[in-house]
Amino acid sequence: MSARTRHFRTMILDALDLHARVRPASFAIDDVTYGELRDGASRVAERLRAVGVAPGDRVVLYAENSLGFVYAYLGALRAGAIVVPANVLYRESDLARIVEDSGARVMCVSAQSRPFVASGYSGPVVDLADVVAWAIDAHIAPYACDRTPDDTALLVYTSGTTGRAKGAMLTHANLAAIASQVTRAWAWTSGDTLLLTLPLFHIHGLCAGVNGTLATGARLLLRERFEVSDVIATLRAGKTTMFFGVPTMYVRILERADSGPFPAVRLFVSGSAALPASIHEAFAARFDASILERYGSTEFGFALTNRYDGARYPGTVGFPFPGVRVRLVDANACDIPDGEIGEILVSGPNVCAGYWRDADATAAAFVNDTDGTRWFRSGDLGTFDTERGYAIVGRTKELIISGGFNIYPREIEDELVSIDGIRAAAVIGRPDAARGELPVAYVETEGVADVDIEAVLATLRARLASFKVPREMTIVDELPRNAMGKIDKPALRARSAM
Ligand code: AMP
Repeated sequence: MSARTRHFRTMILDALDLHARVRPASFAIDDVTYGELRDGASRVAERLRAVGVAPGDRVVLYAENSLGFVYAYLGALRAGAIVVPANVLYRESDLARIVEDSGARVMCVSAQSRPFVASGYSGPVVDLADVVAWAIDAHIAPYACDRTPDDTALLVYTSGTTGRAKGAMLTHANLAAIASQVTRAWAWTSGDTLLLTLPLFHIHGLCAGVNGTLATGARLLLRERFEVSDVIATLRAGKTTMFFGVPTMYVRILERADSGPFPAVRLFVSGSAALPASIHEAFAARFDASILERYGSTEFGFALTNRYDGARYPGTVGFPFPGVRVRLVDANACDIPDGEIGEILVSGPNVCAGYWRDADATAAAFVNDTDGTRWFRSGDLGTFDTERGYAIVGRTKELIISGGFNIYPREIEDELVSIDGIRAAAVIGRPDAARGELPVAYVETEGVADVDIEAVLATLRARLASFKVPREMTIVDELPRNAMGKIDKPALRARSAM
């Protein structure tokens, strides 16, 4: 293999250069072509260098989705910096933690996010509107700084729904591996157009959506956020071939769209949280489309996917992506037999190098095989079946132990959302003197008056073992969720303890 080929295969930026050479006039992001995107990224890199960004410096991107965000991301990488995406919903303390822990050199913000810049931060603040202006300013000389595949490209702070946020260090090689895995598994080509409404500060939007597009030379239609009527209209317009979402987006589409297929869409992907089997089935029945579910996390991008060609079983996440290895283990990190529940371990070129400046957290997150293979402990519990693949049953920390019985909240949540009128459900354990913990449920309904709690509990009693039936069920207007639409169970637990 020539040095040049090897180089291309390791860097997302090299893919951008390649497509800018081969198809300069093809659209990359909205109406921006590959030629424009490459030139713009190099100009932004030059301006960031002039602002003081040196190779290895951390550049925080704190903004909602926009073209400026993509230019800042690519420009910062091209300047040799480490990009630190920060959730745009973060305020004072969450943001201060990221800015301080990463040692931010520069913060890139939008008009909307600028008022919330961490008070302790005194470094340069760059407006993404200026970034777009730099990108199209032909007077700015292009700049590029060489990096190696093992250099850190992204520092992504994990959702933080449990404990202190930690920065997962993803290298350029990790990004290339993740992009290669999703593009191969999902048969992505330069002819595809992806509608992306997922936030770019999260791995699903950035590493699958943006990097997958750049790796293949495809086109991205980027939206600031998910607006259900816009998404339905765009998918119906017949120009989009792929849509990536989280389960709540599919619930919203089902609430709003009439039946009938979406003409050009060949692939709907769901991930970041469990897609209830009932939603998969309802979507298939209404739109004649079988949602492909994948399983991933900030620390390893993606690990499991339903088959692209072949049956997709509701409630399962399929098989490892090409190049990824997955195992199920018990509490002693020993393999368990098929059919039993174990913790998911992940190994492969996609798995992050560890946590930023946190050797203890890194050591706790990995186990090493006798042959030296490094396995990431996902903290998720799953099962395996040779035909259907893996299924996620919940987080190790969410397991409820009641009177000595294990209760996996997901099983009860899936039953709850399959009942008419229940839109979303969360089951947590409440401390109990006699049984250790008792399951209690919180549900979000489509119309509060329509759901009879006693009738729902009676349905569950008929379907589940008695120890799994929630001892209490509360109807709430809205469950607490994070920016990815994932239910925030620690917040619910705090509420339940009050
Ligand atoms: P994040 O790091 O924010 O992407 O969160 C990763 C976590 O989301 C995983 O550890 C899982 O708990 C959860 N997750 C991601 N995909 C799925 C899925 N398809 N089914 C169930 N849980 C998922």
